[in-house]
Amino acid sequence: MGLSRVVLASNNVGKLKEFSAILTSSGIEMVAQGSLGVSEVEEPYGTFVENALAKARHASRLTGLPTLADDSGLCVRVLGGAPGVYSARYASLAGGPKSDAANNHRLVTELAGQVDRRACYVAVLVYLRCHDDPRPIVVEGSWDGEVLDEPRGENGFGYDPYFYLPDLALTAAELAPEQKNTLSHRARALRSLLSALRSEFE
Ligand code: IMP
Repeated sequence: MGLSRVVLASNNVGKLKEFSAILTSSGIEMVAQGSLGVSEVEEPYGTFVENALAKARHASRLTGLPTLADDSGLCVRVLGGAPGVYSARYASLAGGPKSDAANNHRLVTELAGQVDRRACYVAVLVYLRCHDDPRPIVVEGSWDGEVLDEPRGENGFGYDPYFYLPDLALTAAELAPEQKNTLSHRARALRSLLSALRSEFE
């Protein structure tokens, strides 16, 4: 039997690789939505799950194929879960540029003087069999850490140089990519998705 095609509701090459690596073994071929002519959709909602669902529905409606979408971000406890769904736009929402450096600068500034540095990365994945699927598969992965004042490490992206893992005494940016890919919020969510999808594709 051939692989089942599933659209990834993202054009991020890194994500396509990461998701394909894990899902191919389950008989799933991931196809980026851009290669099927699907453009990115707005992410207007206040929760990860709503944004992921909106992305998945949009891609599934336009392609007629099953779709996987994700939404992720950093949630800081004393900031009431911010930057959360606004993680990619954290600095630009305050009038700054849209860059990792500016986002990290805002984060460290907001946390100045705070003793409680607890935070977690969150990734929510939504799988839709069709655009009006009444029973989407929804999974979440989270990864606990703390926010540092100074960056450490060169790997990763986004908030990784400031995201400290007390158990390992390393930041996410100090981990080798393979190590991050087994520990991260996305990896955890993907493992849950994999077990949920097993029954779909057996
Ligand atoms: P999105 O899920 O691609 O929209 O990403 C949301 C934003 O959350 C990214 O632009 C980063 O700012 C942040 N983020 C999500 N996952 C990670 C991660 O693994 N490392 C660092 N930042 C992350």
